[in-house]
Amino acid sequence: MKKIKIIGAGLAGSEAALQLADAGWKVELFEMRPHKRTPAHQTEYFAELVCSNSFKSKLITTAAGLLKKEMEILGCKLLPIAEKCRVPAGNALAIDRKLFAEKITDLIENHPHISVRREEVVALDDEPTIVATGPLTSENLTRNILEIIGEKHLYFFDAIAPIVDAESLDRNIIYEKTRYDKGEADYLNCPFTKEEYYRFVESLQNAEKHKAHEFETQFFQNIDFRFYENCTPIEELARRGKDTLRFGVMRPVGLENPKTQKRPFAVIQLRAENKEKTAYNLVGCQTMLKYGEQKKIFRLIPGMEKAEFLRFGSIHRNSYLNAPHIFNPDLSLKNKPNIFVAGQLSGVEGYTESVFSGLLVSLIISQSPKFNPNVLPQSTISGQLYRYLLKENKNFQPVNANFGLLPPLPEKIKDKKLKKAKLAERSLENLKAALNKIN
Ligand SMILES: Cc1cc2nc3c(=O)[nH]c(=O)nc-3n(C[C@H](O)[C@H](O)[C@H](O)COP(=O)(O)OP(=O)(O)OC[C@H]3O[C@@H](n4cnc5c(N)ncnc54)[C@H](O)[C@@H]3O)c2cc1C
Repeated sequence: MKKIKIIGAGLAGSEAALQLADAGWKVELFEMRPHKRTPAHQTEYFAELVCSNSFKSKLITTAAGLLKKEMEILGCKLLPIAEKCRVPAGNALAIDRKLFAEKITDLIENHPHISVRREEVVALDDEPTIVATGPLTSENLTRNILEIIGEKHLYFFDAIAPIVDAESLDRNIIYEKTRYDKGEADYLNCPFTKEEYYRFVESLQNAEKHKAHEFETQFFQNIDFRFYENCTPIEELARRGKDTLRFGVMRPVGLENPKTQKRPFAVIQLRAENKEKTAYNLVGCQTMLKYGEQKKIFRLIPGMEKAEFLRFGSIHRNSYLNAPHIFNPDLSLKNKPNIFVAGQLSGVEGYTESVFSGLLVSLIISQSPKFNPNVLPQSTISGQLYRYLLKENKNFQPVNANFGLLPPLPEKIKDKKLKKAKLAERSLENLKAALNKIN
């Protein structure tokens, strides 16, 4: 029986472990929690979602939805489990994160081909290994990887949103509605008047934020601090201009208040954290403000005057490797070809993308030479995510699923929806044909 080590039982590591074990490999899976925690994980379970509880849209006319469909065709293990743990969220695949993580942990711990070792790996050896330690890879291992790749880690900071207790929300003000009434009314909406909105923005602009963590600044001395653009803290967005938020995450279109039949000036949406809807996540409110400031400012949100915070937003490290410089085409390290990298650390961004990366690396390892990642057509999101990691790029940054990765259609289509439908149709047809060919 062939053997492999997998380091990190997050989203990528759990997918890879199940794939390889089901393919007959003997897997040794290392996870440092609960003995050593990351700044974001809360439990000892595998495949824990650390921030939002959503794998994003299921519609194949969205890039995230199309990637999930492609992953289904490729035989993904984690997504069918996510389906079983779904909570209502319109067209999005949002889940009860505890149930999901428990199910996966149970499956892995009881798998006859997987042995779990709850310990931190501090150095890589030459045995076949998948490193799937994520954006919060422990400091010791980060140092060792730096020594191996012989060049600097790129990295930057990211921020997460607060979660509030459902019972503390004022339902006389807050209303249920999904944008344009698509799907069930799964979101709660906090409606702002013009005055309320500008007061909120002004408070954000003037609020006190946390400084970068001392360890991070000392350890990664010569590297720029940057944010993921789509996880920019709300106070940073507020500082860009007083109307930035109401044209972005607080846009009110399609969210008319059913009580007044009027469109509010701006809206903050709340998304259920669990099936029981006892807790809600403040959509788009990722922040690095001090806790006291968060309490004060988020209680300015209409309907949240008495909000109880179950978790405050926070700032965290987000590490990734400079993939195009250090990877072989099979996503192993050029100067340690037995070491493969999967998940966010490898340069993909997002939950679904990290699961995909675990799936891809395990297919490369278990099905080579029959499966070569280049069989994934250029017209697929999966194929293009893979190619992105290897493409020369001076300012390499993690990538998430997006239609911009796909080559244009031969014909010009003005209607955006129709265009995406055609892109999705082409992708799925080509992927099925490509897989039929190799099977
Ligand atoms: C705070 C935060 C919020 C995020 N929010 C979102 C979001 O809302 N939506 C989204 O799509 N993406 C989000 N991301 C990005 C990303 O999709 C997730 O981090 C995702 O979990 C990455 O999957 P992964 O498998 O690469 O890593 P992880 O899921 O983080 O798994 C890595 C595992 O490796 C373990 N580990 C680390 N070092 C070692 C070691 N040396 N030895 C043994 N085990 C080790 C960790 O304990 C962890 O269990 C967020 C990231 C962070 C950090």
